[in-house]
Amino acid sequence: MYSGVDRRSRATLCRRSKTKSIALPSRTRTRSSWSPKGLSTSEIYPNGISTSLPFDVQLELVHSIRGLEQAHILRPGYAIEYDYYDPRSLRSTLETKAIANLFFAGQINGTTGYEEAAAQGLLAGLNAARRALGRETWFPRRDQAYLGVLADDLINRGGGPSRTGCSPVAPSTGCRCARTMPTCD
Ligand SMILES: Cc1cc2nc3c(=O)[nH]c(=O)nc-3n(C[C@H](O)[C@H](O)[C@H](O)COP(=O)(O)OP(=O)(O)OC[C@H]3O[C@@H](n4cnc5c(N)ncnc54)[C@H](O)[C@@H]3O)c2cc1C
Repeated sequence: MYSGVDRRSRATLCRRSKTKSIALPSRTRTRSSWSPKGLSTSEIYPNGISTSLPFDVQLELVHSIRGLEQAHILRPGYAIEYDYYDPRSLRSTLETKAIANLFFAGQINGTTGYEEAAAQGLLAGLNAARRALGRETWFPRRDQAYLGVLADDLINRGGGPSRTGCSPVAPSTGCRCARTMPTCD
């Protein structure tokens, strides 16, 4: 999937090891932790070496890890690339500007994380329900909630391959954990 051609108009999932090696060429090592898949199987999931390189390269990579010289790969790694709706065409309520009463949340907006998808789902779902009930729509401001920061960044900066996080929140706004779940009437 990684060809060196700029394809940032499409969202991709977790950062892969080959992307890491190109973004950080000085790093010659990466951390990998192994999660057993069950009590009655010798299958393990190797965290930290996500890749969609050809199978023979994956096998060579795994065999180069101390302790895995004889390992078998049961399911090769793969990558997902998908198109998405440009979130800059959304309102603060996550309603599309193009079609009234159509609300978008999560992967379709180009974000790639569980938390981002869930948070957007709360906002979009709440507003879809309020619209259906004939009530005013609602959204939190940047200085009121992390969700406000997330949605504001999403609709103004766009989604793209990066995850939308709450790290850009300015400490001066007073946003803190206690304010992550604001109430609305
Ligand atoms: C292999 C893999 C690993 C991942 N690992 C991580 C991770 O470690 N951390 C992380 O934060 N994120 C991870 N993600 C990303 C995360 O799973 C997604 O960003 C998130 O699930 C997106 O949620 P969503 O609700 O937008 O979409 P989805 O979870 O895809 O939900 C969409 C739902 O809509 C349903 N649907 C589709 N079409 C229709 C239709 N026509 N009618 C009715 N229903 C329909 C689908 O069945 C599905 O249930 C991973 C994703 C994958 C694939």
